[in-house]
Amino acid sequence: MNNEEVVRKATDAGVLLVTFLYCDNGGVIRGKSSHIYGLANRIDSGIGLTVAMQAMSDNDDLQPIDGMGPKGEIRLVPDPNTFTLLPYAPKRAVMMADMHTLDRKPWAACPRDFLKKQIDRAGKMGLNIQAAFEPEWSLARRDGDGFAPIDESLCFSGVGMTESMEVIDDIVVALDAQGLQVEQYYPELGHGQQELTIGHADALRAADNHIVYRETVRNIARQHDLYASFAPKPFPDQSGNGCHLHISLWDEQAERNLFYDSDGRHGLSQMGYQFIGGVLAHLRGLVALTAPSVNSYRRLIPNSWSSAFVCYGPDNREAAVRIPSGYWGNEMASANLELKPSDSSANPYLALGGLISAGLDGITNNTIPSLDLEIDVDPTTLPDGELKRRGIVNLPRSLDEAVRALEEDVTLMESLGPTLSEAYLAIRRADAKLFSENDQSFEIRRHFNKF
Ligand code: GLU
Ligand code: MG
Repeated sequence: MNNEEVVRKATDAGVLLVTFLYCDNGGVIRGKSSHIYGLANRIDSGIGLTVAMQAMSDNDDLQPIDGMGPKGEIRLVPDPNTFTLLPYAPKRAVMMADMHTLDRKPWAACPRDFLKKQIDRAGKMGLNIQAAFEPEWSLARRDGDGFAPIDESLCFSGVGMTESMEVIDDIVVALDAQGLQVEQYYPELGHGQQELTIGHADALRAADNHIVYRETVRNIARQHDLYASFAPKPFPDQSGNGCHLHISLWDEQAERNLFYDSDGRHGLSQMGYQFIGGVLAHLRGLVALTAPSVNSYRRLIPNSWSSAFVCYGPDNREAAVRIPSGYWGNEMASANLELKPSDSSANPYLALGGLISAGLDGITNNTIPSLDLEIDVDPTTLPDGELKRRGIVNLPRSLDEAVRALEEDVTLMESLGPTLSEAYLAIRRADAKLFSENDQSFEIRRHFNKF
């Protein structure tokens, strides 16, 4: 879509405000809106934004980062290809925005540009990336000062479907209307927990889609006087909310899935194993991008089906990287890898960009993972000493530990670049400190409705 088409489409639909959306280093979706009157200009010139916004830790506490203080300005420049009318807000539309410097270059702290760079790197290797975010979230209502799940239903249960039917159906209609292909829906294991998945797409579109998805679910839940929490562990006694990342690499024509090999172990190609090798080699630092909140580490514990160890396995839901079994008659197209330690408190551009960076590193260095890292059982059921013998280590047990692992990961740090990594690490460190000085109810309150 070009700029004129965007303005015409918005005008014809009766839109008054078009919001230029972005996701910050803290995983928070933010934006600024242009009235339709000035839209034609603003699509070109962007909307001004203070450089400080990429240095905000929890509760908008500005961190002291060089070049991200009160002085300085960037532009939020919308991508016309992402223009979307909002079925739940007829006078509004959104566009995903890139962050540009005043001399019209991508800003070094722009997460969307970070993902684009990783996609370009893959492109130069002749690779096309398909990805999907698989979000789980909790549907809740206000309960005094806090929130309570809307039901106590069991996993995939008909009762759970009944309880949330009206709101889920409205969400499905709205996602369809915005061009997000709904694939599956079911009430998940936890009380009030939902899983509604959408189809895979080109990597950049997949990350954009996840922003549209979070916006849609939150807004429609509110229209039903409910709250949708994307926090990784909004209810301490219930199953956590993952947002597993699915990825596959295709050839230049996007016709052949290069992760598929009918003769490969578990149907996975050599390139698939190299990708796993890269991901596992960088996983302890990578989770600082994919599971980046303090609350994320209440989810990444053993026996939670969210993974707690650096290992992989075919259809093993306790392994950090799962090789999902292919679908009958669709084996080639359905071959993919699933990263389990990932949740919706992540900035989707940083999470997916980090995953691509780690996987490409595995391909470049031919990092075939040792068979000792392939696990067919729940790792906690292995005999004493077996994990150690196989060289299987824990995922970080806290944000603090993950941030330190990211800092030490030269590959990921180089991919992020100095400006983005410095700001990112600073705000994550500040979050880790803040929540270590407060109790769990403070942590849950701050995370519940933030994403
Ligand atoms: N809720 C689990 C998680 O936190 C995932 C359950 C599943 O879908 O396998 O990742
Ligand atoms: Mg699930």
